[in-house]
Amino acid sequence: MEEPELIALDSEEPFQFACGPGVACFNQCCQDLNQALMPYDVLQLRLHLKLTWEQFLSRHAALYAGPGSGLPVVSLRFSHSQDKRCPFVTPQGCSVYTARPTSCRLYPVARALQRSRRDGRLSEHFALVKEPHCLGFHQGPRQTARQWIEDQGAAAGLAANDQLMELIALKNRLRPGPLSAEHQQWAVMAFYDLDLLKQEAAAGRLKQIARGILRPLPSPGEEFAWLSWGLQWLRLALFGEAK
Ligand code: SF4
Ligand code: SF4
Repeated sequence: MEEPELIALDSEEPFQFACGPGVACFNQCCQDLNQALMPYDVLQLRLHLKLTWEQFLSRHAALYAGPGSGLPVVSLRFSHSQDKRCPFVTPQGCSVYTARPTSCRLYPVARALQRSRRDGRLSEHFALVKEPHCLGFHQGPRQTARQWIEDQGAAAGLAANDQLMELIALKNRLRPGPLSAEHQQWAVMAFYDLDLLKQEAAAGRLKQIARGILRPLPSPGEEFAWLSWGLQWLRLALFGEAK
């Protein structure tokens, strides 16, 4: 498959794009993929499919240690057929559309965060990913990257991903190299196994690990608040820093 073209995009610069079942290339972008799932994506899909973390992992995903950070990474398991199709794609389109991963929502927009070495401020950068097979650029309204993010419901996932990226940057700065087996288990619990996180928190075991200031525990059903709490807890437990 040909490499996509990456075109830098100013956040206020409009681009034309639309996608839907009427387009001749429908579903072509849901195959030949290597899709990493962020913790927010896993939680969103799990809730939609009504699966525990263990069920989701055994049916749809693979878990491994990230080569750079040693932190856990989850990728979606694709069909073994030649086209490496997403397990959720159907002839009618995405079967988990309302819970689709943030990268699927953003496509064809790519977003990167950069931290200034001078003042530590974060800035957002955007690009358009143009793949030869994608016909969406020839139709639809013009919109900016920010309008696209809003329209696709991607803002909450991006905010959660940014919290994770801060933790990864801290890990790479303060403790490069692999994590101990115990710390890897903590990270799997904080990123993905939120039922275990809740149990451990309810039993009072996490505050002993992370002596410091943590936000109050969310209510049991506030799943996305638990994810954010877990990332804060892990940051404190591993590096003694909370935010
Ligand atoms: S227009 Fe692009 S994003 Fe939409 S189905 Fe076709 S390849 Fe996928
Ligand atoms: S989750 Fe949905 S949108 Fe994303 S690759 Fe799979 S079928 Fe396509």
